[in-house]
Amino acid sequence: MPQRAATIVGGGIGGLAAAIALHRRGWHVEVLERAREFTEIGAGISLWPNALRALEGLGLGGAVRALGAVEAAGGVRDRQGRWLSRTDNAELARRFGHPLVVLHRADLLRALAEALPAGSLRPDSEVSAVDGSGPRPVVGHRGGESRPDLVIGADGLRSAVRRALWPDAAGPRYAGYTAWRMVTEPLPEPPAEGAATWGCGARFGYTALPGGRMYCFATASLPAGAASGSSEYAELLRRFGSWPAPIPALLAAVPAKTVLRHDLYDLPPLPSFVHGRVALLGDAAHAMTPNLGQGACQALEDAVTLAHCLDGTPDVAAALRSYDLLRRPRTQAITRRSARLGAVGQLSWPPAVLLRNTAARLMPARAALRSMTPVLGWSAPGDRATAKGSEGD
Ligand code: FAD
Repeated sequence: MPQRAATIVGGGIGGLAAAIALHRRGWHVEVLERAREFTEIGAGISLWPNALRALEGLGLGGAVRALGAVEAAGGVRDRQGRWLSRTDNAELARRFGHPLVVLHRADLLRALAEALPAGSLRPDSEVSAVDGSGPRPVVGHRGGESRPDLVIGADGLRSAVRRALWPDAAGPRYAGYTAWRMVTEPLPEPPAEGAATWGCGARFGYTALPGGRMYCFATASLPAGAASGSSEYAELLRRFGSWPAPIPALLAAVPAKTVLRHDLYDLPPLPSFVHGRVALLGDAAHAMTPNLGQGACQALEDAVTLAHCLDGTPDVAAALRSYDLLRRPRTQAITRRSARLGAVGQLSWPPAVLLRNTAARLMPARAALRSMTPVLGWSAPGDRATAKGSEGD
């Protein structure tokens, strides 16, 4: 088969992963990225066993694992700091083949970008038009025009590719709560275990990064676009400064100006992820709330699956239809599950909070872990021997 060309719109985790998967199979790839650099200012990111399996499919499993921290255990606490449930990372690894790994997003992006030939990365190349009506799709961008065999729209929640080719699709919907993310300075004695602390209409979580730093995240139920007071950091202190240890000490170790805040959205289900020779992938296809920590994990799964579907067939459109069938039910089911978990996590009516906490306390740890099998037990197509189930299958 002559060398085929793919244009990937968006150089986030999903776009870079897709480019690597295709490049490894001999495709000529170009990644068009709106930003001036291929980097992430974001904080930490958790990669679950399914994501590590996808990264293995990209030849990067060991390299990415080496960049992350693996905590022995974690869990959920109530507003007083009492444990509601615990997760044993060794048990997770025993059951699903990998532990939960947490790393800085910038480190993950760098590892992905370095796996591609430098010439394939095209920063400062915002895509403004996509035409899928001819025999070959046409992508109009800041640097000119591309006419590849395949276009991958990996341009995130507010995807220009999706808007161009799915003009009737509903836009992102607000989840009802906002999120802050931050990374502490290295701590001399970081907490031994991570935890998510659930209050009334608010949550605060923390987990270890390499080098003694902690990645922290917090949520609060607020209208979309609600302004914070003087600064996001002051707002966090006001809301969480009196929460149980070690939260106040962690907040004290966060450089005030580095706090990130984003309102959380997900995407109503699309009727298809593909349009001829154009496929959507990652948040562009199925943006989800971060309650399961699965958005990027699913983007990595998408990338590996898409490349697998294109293996050995000259018929790009047919391969994309297979990709759609494999990925849409699963990712849309996980999006729904994440939204449900978020609604429970953000409960604010005290009797409902009490009921939630009691149910969480009574749920055996093994049952909780087993309930994650459809999400975490994924394995790449072609590697089904180790599969333990698949949400939406
Ligand atoms: P994006 O990361 O949004 O990348 C899209 C890229 O496209 C960007 O680089 C953008 O600049 C570029 N772009 C956009 N428009 C254009 C254009 N017109 N032309 C060219 N380029 C363009 N997921 C996890 O797996 N684990 C977690 O722990 C986790 N935590 C999260 C916490 C929070 C608070 C949030 C909000 C999300 C979290 N997620 C997590 C989800 C995860 O961040 C996303 O699912 C993931 O980053 C999606 O990757 P992507 O490549 O699809 O999109």
